[in-house]
Amino acid sequence: MPLDLVLRQARLAERGGELLDIGIAAGRIAEIAAHIAADVPAEQLDGRLVIPGFVETHIHLDKSCILDRCSCEQGTLQEAIASVAAAKRAFTEDDIHARARRTLEKAIVQGTTRMRTHVEIDPRVGLKSFHAIRRLGRDYAWAIDLQICVFPQEGLTNDPGAEELLIAACEQGAGTIGGCPYTDTDPHEQIARIFEIARRFDLDIDFHLDFDLDPSWMHLDEVCWQTDAHKWGGRVAIGHVTKLSAINHSRLADIGRRLADAGVALTVLPATDLFLMGREHEQHVPRGVAPAHRLLDHGVTCSLATNNVLNPFTPFGDCSLIRMANLYANIAQVGRPSDFAACFDMVTTLPARLMNLADYGIAIGHPADLVVLDSRGPAMAVAELAQPLFGLKRGRRSFTRAAAMIHHPVPSSACSGRSVPG
Ligand SMILES: [Zn+2]
Repeated sequence: MPLDLVLRQARLAERGGELLDIGIAAGRIAEIAAHIAADVPAEQLDGRLVIPGFVETHIHLDKSCILDRCSCEQGTLQEAIASVAAAKRAFTEDDIHARARRTLEKAIVQGTTRMRTHVEIDPRVGLKSFHAIRRLGRDYAWAIDLQICVFPQEGLTNDPGAEELLIAACEQGAGTIGGCPYTDTDPHEQIARIFEIARRFDLDIDFHLDFDLDPSWMHLDEVCWQTDAHKWGGRVAIGHVTKLSAINHSRLADIGRRLADAGVALTVLPATDLFLMGREHEQHVPRGVAPAHRLLDHGVTCSLATNNVLNPFTPFGDCSLIRMANLYANIAQVGRPSDFAACFDMVTTLPARLMNLADYGIAIGHPADLVVLDSRGPAMAVAELAQPLFGLKRGRRSFTRAAAMIHHPVPSSACSGRSVPG
C-alpha cells in the first residue's frame, strides 16, 4: 500500500535513542525503519520524541467547568460531593455537552488520544450526562477514543432507582462500570452489585475507593476478594486510594503484592488528592497522594490521571497529563531519571494496559495515533514538562501547537542605525 505520510528522524521511547522514520498508510502505521525511501509528504522531527499519545484513565467531563455555579468554604470531599449534587440538578444535556466539549478539546491539544471518562448516573440527573457524553464521543471520534464509565457518585444501595438507571446505561452501550462504595450506606453490597452488573454486560470495572487518610480499614480488601471470586483479574481498577499514603513501606509492599496477584490496577489523581486531603490540619498538611511509583516494583499496573477540571473537587486544570506526571514526581519526591521515566509510563503505556487497549503503541498495523513532544526522551519530558507540538489520530493531523520562540535583540551593527524607542 502506498504511504501517505512519513515522520522522519523520530525518537521512540520503546527503541532507546535510535532515530527512525515512521511510514503511515490509510491511517495505520505501515513501516518503521532507519530510512524510508518514499517521495511522499514528510515531517522532519530532528530527533524529537514521538509517542502514541497520552492515555487518560480517569476524568469527569460531565461535571467539569462548573466553578461559577458552586461555592465551597471548607474544601473537603464531602462538601465537593454535596455542592456538585446540588448543581447537577440544573444540568441539561446541551449544557453538559458544551462544558465537556471545552474540557475534551483541552485534552486533545495536550496530546491525549485515549480517554476513559467517568459519568454520573442517579435518579436526579438520570441519563442526561450519559447521553451528552456519548454524543460528544461521536463528535470527536476523529481526535480521541472516548470510553464511558458509568457510576453512582451518590451511592447505589441507598439511592432507589440508581441501579436501574446504571443497567439502562449499560444496555445502551456504556463501555465500563464504576462504583463509589465510600458514599454508600452498604459499601460491600455496592461492590458486589457492581461486579454482578459487570459480569452481566462483560464490562471492566473502575472504582473510586478508599478516599481518606484513615488506614485502619480499607475497601481494597473486599475489591481484591471479589476480583478473585469472579475471576475478573486484569479488568478491575481502583482510583484515589489515598489511604495508601498513610501507611509504612512494609504494609504498602504487602498491599502491592495483593493488588498485583489479584490483577487490580491503581489510578492516582494527584491534583484532586492534594487539594482535598488533610483539610483538618492547620499545618504540616499531609500530601495524601498514594505512592504509585513504589507499587510498580510489585507489579501493580498504575496510572496517573486528571480527575476533575474547574469544579469543587479540583478548581484548576489544563488536562495536561505530562503536567500530572511532573506534579506527581515532585510531590512524591521522585528524583532519579529512571523513576521519571516510570512516571512517563504512568501516563502512557501503563494506563493503556489498565484500559486493556490492545492496539495502543507504535507498531506496524496499529492506528497511526502519534504525538510529537518537544523533547529528546521520556525522563526529560517529565522533568521539563515537554509540550506536545502536533498530533495525528489515525494518520490525520488532529492538533498543532506552535513551539515557543525567543526573539534576541538584533546586534546594532546589523541594524541600519535606527533604534526602536521604549
Ligand atoms: Zn473521579
